[in-house]
Amino acid sequence: ATERVFNFAAGPATLPENVLLKAQSELYNWRGCGMSVMEMSHRGKEFLSIIQKAESDLRTLLNIPSDYTVLFLQGGATTQFASVPLNLCKPDDVVDYVVTGSWGDKALKEAAKYSNPKSIWSGKSEKYTKIPNFESLEQTPGAKYLHICANETIHGVEFKAYPTPATENEVLVADMSSNFCSKPVDVTKFGVIYAGAQKNVGPSGVTIAIVRSDLIGSAQPSTPVMLDWKIHADNNSLYNTPPCYGIYMCGLVFEDLVEQGGLVEVEKKNVKKASILYDAIDESNGFFRCPVEKSVRSLMNVPFTLAKPELEAEFVKEAAKEKMVQLKGHRSVGGMRASIYNAMPLAGVEKLILVFARVGISGF
Ligand code: PMP
Repeated sequence: ATERVFNFAAGPATLPENVLLKAQSELYNWRGCGMSVMEMSHRGKEFLSIIQKAESDLRTLLNIPSDYTVLFLQGGATTQFASVPLNLCKPDDVVDYVVTGSWGDKALKEAAKYSNPKSIWSGKSEKYTKIPNFESLEQTPGAKYLHICANETIHGVEFKAYPTPATENEVLVADMSSNFCSKPVDVTKFGVIYAGAQKNVGPSGVTIAIVRSDLIGSAQPSTPVMLDWKIHADNNSLYNTPPCYGIYMCGLVFEDLVEQGGLVEVEKKNVKKASILYDAIDESNGFFRCPVEKSVRSLMNVPFTLAKPELEAEFVKEAAKEKMVQLKGHRSVGGMRASIYNAMPLAGVEKLILVFARVGISGF
């Protein structure tokens, strides 16, 4: 088959078609330099131009102030679960975590190895369908940072506003892996934002960290060099061999997002896609259900169940006939999940809704 599918995977995820075609056209011989991006030195002028352009387009997109450092790292967002406490505090320091889903929970558990984290709110007993009311949060006095997962990929809950840390010395830290560059964000509200690339902005293998520069340089002495933000900041993300091709791909995606008119425009498209999907779920008379509280439903990951679970397999089969794939929910929660990142076209969501109608009707 030569035709592409509509890929609703949570990550690695679908990438913009024009970006893939551009990468294809440049694969064999990048802009006449006689080799591919995969073969060139990471210290040569060609790659330097690639990484600098990627950073500059990202700075444009998120309006990143000059006192923030952008790092292109490896090891996935999971590695940042450790890097965050290692770089921001001493082993005895208290840090606060708001746990709105399983990624936030993983971050909390990793932080316990390098700091003294407190879970100040957990949505677990309500199956991670909510975001807390910020006034009700009991932040720990003297905590070094407040950690949130801005969008929980498995449970489909997304912060629509952000809590403010209790004191000026404390910073807000956010895992934005699954909603990075999906909408404008006021970077100045955060000490650290980190994200694995493989959902919205590129292939797996690249992790982006945006760190307020004064927070860099106080890592715990035992911090491995690869986890020390200062090492990477001092070397412009070129301390060791970076994931060159992945950074190149992220750069192409950033350029594409800038050309689309930036994140204000991107958000409009995402709102439209998400609302037609949630509307279809809500208007199915309970045949399809999304468990997440309406006001905090994710624009990126839409979990849903069918009234008759035995119809799930049929749903997946019907969708596959129409070239729609990867709709099963995460193995830990079951049900269905449609991830509709930036690169999912409106046409993909419209097609999905047609299958909703078909399976819904035959199931009654
Ligand atoms: N945080 C979130 C919100 C995620 O969705 C994921 C991956 N699905 C991770 C962290 C872990 O990322 P990685 O696989 O890049 O380590």
